[in-house]
Amino acid sequence: MSSDLTVGGEEPPEVADDGVWLECIETGEQYAPFEGVRYRSDAGALLEVRYAEHPTFEEFSGEGVWRYDAALPVEREVTIDEGATPLYEVPRLEDEVGVESLRIKHEGMNPTGSFKDRGMTVGVGVARRLGVDRLACASTGNTSAALAAYGGRAGMETLVLLPAGKVAAGKIAQASLHGARILEVDDNFDTCLDIVQDLASRGEAYLLNSLNPFRLEGQKTIGFEILERHREEYGEFPDRIVLPVGNAGNTAALYKAFRELVASGALDEEDVPKLTGVQAEGAAPMVEAVENGWDEIERWEDVETRATAIRIGNPVNAPKALPGIRATGGTAVAVSDAEITDAQRALAGEGIGVEPASAASVAGLRKLRENGVVGSDERVVCLTTGHLLKDPDAAAAAGVEPESVPGETEGVLKHLDE
Ligand SMILES: *Cc1c(COP(=O)(O)O)cnc(C)c1O
Repeated sequence: MSSDLTVGGEEPPEVADDGVWLECIETGEQYAPFEGVRYRSDAGALLEVRYAEHPTFEEFSGEGVWRYDAALPVEREVTIDEGATPLYEVPRLEDEVGVESLRIKHEGMNPTGSFKDRGMTVGVGVARRLGVDRLACASTGNTSAALAAYGGRAGMETLVLLPAGKVAAGKIAQASLHGARILEVDDNFDTCLDIVQDLASRGEAYLLNSLNPFRLEGQKTIGFEILERHREEYGEFPDRIVLPVGNAGNTAALYKAFRELVASGALDEEDVPKLTGVQAEGAAPMVEAVENGWDEIERWEDVETRATAIRIGNPVNAPKALPGIRATGGTAVAVSDAEITDAQRALAGEGIGVEPASAASVAGLRKLRENGVVGSDERVVCLTTGHLLKDPDAAAAAGVEPESVPGETEGVLKHLDE
């Protein structure tokens, strides 16, 4: 495995605040973390939060995201008890797929029903520390729901930009009730993100998309939880983690979690799980880049998939995520909407209700098992990113039809006998 897996452990630079600073992933230029608002380096590249020290598992205590505060840039402040999500067994699916073990890390069990809460508890905490008063994001839905809830919690104004007609009903309902101003843009998500970045650079609002490096710090805790729990139950870490990819924030965050654990000595390089990304066929620029061995993705202008949460043609975190997929020996695969719906039904059949984008992980695992990329001896964890109730229309369309019966018992019995 490449030395890409090592990070940090260095002397804090002058700009550091309590051993925390921001660093350009391309030039290595360093910046003060909390002195002003900054989303990109002077070179225009992505920033990463860096630490002088990285904790081992022994230094974690408590529950949920803030169990891992030793690996986070701010203290617990704006929280609604996010994290500590279940790692479900799925015996029938495990048999059907044919792997040594299969677990489902269900991030739909977070307070607003997606993993975005883990990013927001940290990101909104940083916003408070920076002293900003208006928060904003572009969203395929779940980011807006989480931002609205955490912004509300922190008593801040929130602004969300959504692609009109392309956001699932449950997510808009959440953003609306939690009190965000919802701006519907007559274009796709990538355009919403272009606009909100412009607004942020003009100082109109603090940006809380996954371009914001602090948000990804919170999302690292998915990786910490999976590793700790998996080792508790099987005595070893998983061989592979399969996850849906939209903006590739989670892929980048998991990779960072692994690198920091390697740096602290808590994880051996050869035990790092293979990061395996799954996209919908109609929105698969990461898969294209991985398959072609490209160093960068090419933006897809036209994207379409029923899995609206990953209907993204320009994954902003690709420069962090592609090296993660490569350095861990993982891969990326595209699945059809029909395969996504099949996987959503299979999970639901085991009692696990997820939205379409989430089911992409299981659909991708099935495909990689069929074509032999994933071996039968592997221990695999699939990430399911959002709850079934986020997208009630997709669930109803994938599920069975209600049957109409008369309003008396004899009539119902007769119907059941038919
Ligand atoms: C945001 C989201 C994704 C995409 O995650 P990235 O970190 O942007 O790749 C996938 N599924 C659901 C349900 C989401 O809300």
